[in-house]
Amino acid sequence: MKNRKRVVVKVGTKVITSGDRALDIERVKGLVSQIASIRDKGIDVILITSGAIGAGLWLLGMKKRPEDLAMLQASAAIGQNHLMHLYSEFFKNFKTNVGQILLTQEDFNDRTRYLNIKHTIEALLEHGAVPIINENDTVATEEIRCGDNDRLSSLVADLCGAYKLILLTDVDGLLGADGKVINFVSEITHDIAKLGGKSQSELGTGGMATKLEAARAVTRAGIECVIANGKKKDVLPRILLEGGGFEGTTFKCGAGRYLARKRWIAFSSTTKGEISVDDGARSALKDKNKSLLASGILCINGYFKPGDAVKITDKNGKEFAKGLSNYSSWDLAKIKGMRTSSFKSVLGREGRDEVIHKDNLVLL
Ligand code: GLU
Repeated sequence: MKNRKRVVVKVGTKVITSGDRALDIERVKGLVSQIASIRDKGIDVILITSGAIGAGLWLLGMKKRPEDLAMLQASAAIGQNHLMHLYSEFFKNFKTNVGQILLTQEDFNDRTRYLNIKHTIEALLEHGAVPIINENDTVATEEIRCGDNDRLSSLVADLCGAYKLILLTDVDGLLGADGKVINFVSEITHDIAKLGGKSQSELGTGGMATKLEAARAVTRAGIECVIANGKKKDVLPRILLEGGGFEGTTFKCGAGRYLARKRWIAFSSTTKGEISVDDGARSALKDKNKSLLASGILCINGYFKPGDAVKITDKNGKEFAKGLSNYSSWDLAKIKGMRTSSFKSVLGREGRDEVIHKDNLVLL
């Protein structure tokens, strides 16, 4: 178990639905057998699947994607069931159980929930099951949504320590200005990001732009990313067992990985507010690896509680770090610019020296 590698594979709606929006049963079956062959070679797969809304709309006989959120959520509730049934039936052919996990951004923001997801995935893999994950569309309103499954899969790849994230879509990879696939990207520069455009599909929510965002997030966390065509036969074994490279677009990963806790702060938690600091504090954080003290704080924006993640910006509003605040925004508004010795008279109690401890702070 210990020597097994781990990949996260994300399948987009366009890969597993056919023209009439029904789930493409043969494609799902093919995907399952590809995953089974990879698992046989010692690589565990965590599958992120879209398709619930599309399948639900098809089952309900709806020709157009409705605007109404409740209707979309109802479609997801119906479609998710159908989707899982197919996966579970096809994995039975390989005597493999599947475990459904439905997540929202909120589950990643809360460290305890985050660790629970991690432990559940570990336990599923340990028992030879394939975790199958989707956004919990029936409860996910705008504020708590991951947004799209590209982002969700980048969060999961980081959480479970995958060495690779594969985003399967209906194009051959990232296309250059000449319309040809770019096989290898060493850095997502401004020009590369521009190639992502703003494409959006009608049934899924992502597009090349969200895939590039996901690639950017995971490569920074030390995980390689591949965008490839999920409609191609045996695309997964080709990428994973035959060296890949020639299949789709591979994004090279950055050198190091943060420690697990810092990775969670950097990539998974969403910020609830902003702390703007003066030049002295900026240089203490950036150049001297120090904690943030109240004396260097210029102003506070947003409402946050102790333990929430916040952006740290310089005096020009440029974000350069992110961290977990030991104080609420209300308390910080009172103690900003002060030394710890004055906290008691203002807050009515003693307080910690550090507003953000260096262990809970990541430079961006
Ligand atoms: N969770 C949505 C679904 O299952 C898809 C979201 C996406 O395509 O990114 O239909």
